[in-house]
Amino acid sequence: MKILVMNCGSSSLKYQLIDMTDERVMAKGLCERIGIEGSKIKHEGAEKYETEKPMPTHTEAIQLVIEALLDGKHGVIKSIDEVHAVGHRVVHGGEKFATSVIITDEVKAAVKECADLAPLHNPPNLIGIDVCEKLLPGKPQIGVFDTAFHQTMPEKAYLYALPYEYYEKYKVRRYGFHGTSHKYVSDRAASFLGKKIEDLKIITCHMGNGASVAAIKGGKVVDTSMGLTPLEGLVMGTRSGDMDPAIMQFVMGKEGLSIKEMENVLNKNSGVLGISGVSSDFRDIEGAAAEGNKRAKAALDVYYYRVAKYVGAYAAAMNGVDAVVFTAGLGENSAVARKEICSYLTYLGLEIDDEKNNVRGVEVNFAKDGSKVAALLIPTNEELVIARDTKDCLK
Ligand code: AMP
Repeated sequence: MKILVMNCGSSSLKYQLIDMTDERVMAKGLCERIGIEGSKIKHEGAEKYETEKPMPTHTEAIQLVIEALLDGKHGVIKSIDEVHAVGHRVVHGGEKFATSVIITDEVKAAVKECADLAPLHNPPNLIGIDVCEKLLPGKPQIGVFDTAFHQTMPEKAYLYALPYEYYEKYKVRRYGFHGTSHKYVSDRAASFLGKKIEDLKIITCHMGNGASVAAIKGGKVVDTSMGLTPLEGLVMGTRSGDMDPAIMQFVMGKEGLSIKEMENVLNKNSGVLGISGVSSDFRDIEGAAAEGNKRAKAALDVYYYRVAKYVGAYAAAMNGVDAVVFTAGLGENSAVARKEICSYLTYLGLEIDDEKNNVRGVEVNFAKDGSKVAALLIPTNEELVIARDTKDCLK
């Protein structure tokens, strides 16, 4: 069974074709700058292939993906009939979706309703679904939601201390994101430790461009750092994460900003980019800090400290922790970031081994022998979770 995994952003499209008999990635790629001049497809299949082609809309982009998969040279299938189903990443499922589902007109209407809560993400996700329905007629389409895994959170974790009517009328509550990643790495963590997930208290730190932490007790999320939207929680590449809500009005008054402009500041000009003034990319910031740039060093210090505070909070939420897991771009690649964060956690009984920590992108427990808490590096694989859920939905 071959499953096409689609992740449609507003101007980009990531895809993978996965053979579920052995979960092998047959092909993967990226269409960039959809709707903008200079659009490009980068494809890795039988061969690597990259070309600039006009993609005024997602229709042309998905058409090019299908052509790339079928191509005699760099393609990997002979007929589109070899694709059994399409699994779509959908960012916001609100309270409606606690699991992945086969997409129907009702599901699309519900995803549309949630677009209010994820205006940058849900509309392009829906476009991807519509285009695939058109270009791959008759193939089952499955929706896999970033929010679904977090739906097990108890009320005390998801309610904000706001007038209750905002929850009743507008569903203002904590939802959480990166659910597929938190699910994948927590499952892998249990397998890696040779234990049942039902018996474990795990804190997963997804540290990429976007970043979030989840507290997972017995395989179920009990709390997570992102909220109504992916702006809350950790410091991110360009997003502020937690801050005093009164700052918005204060800065808007001083700088004469509209709500839209302020929102843009919090989403695009804040985070480690905002503090450092260097970049949103941790490689650049680590480099600048090493050369003595004080703001770059401050950005990293604020970042590490915030992650450590969440781990402490979630150890309290679960009354203990067996494993802290690091994943995504920074979590998988930066030994320095893992070491700095773990330096706050010795009180939990988490002691790391610098030599074991000095790796990237491989599964490892880098805690010292005898450490009470495991420190795990687990590379994430969100596409595989989408493909597995798609397969399960077809059963
Ligand atoms: P992701 O969103 O998971 O693709 O993560 C992307 C982020 O990971 C980039 O913006 C970088 O900040 C970070 N990253 C990737 N590779 C490294 C590395 N070798 N060292 C430090 N940070 C890295």
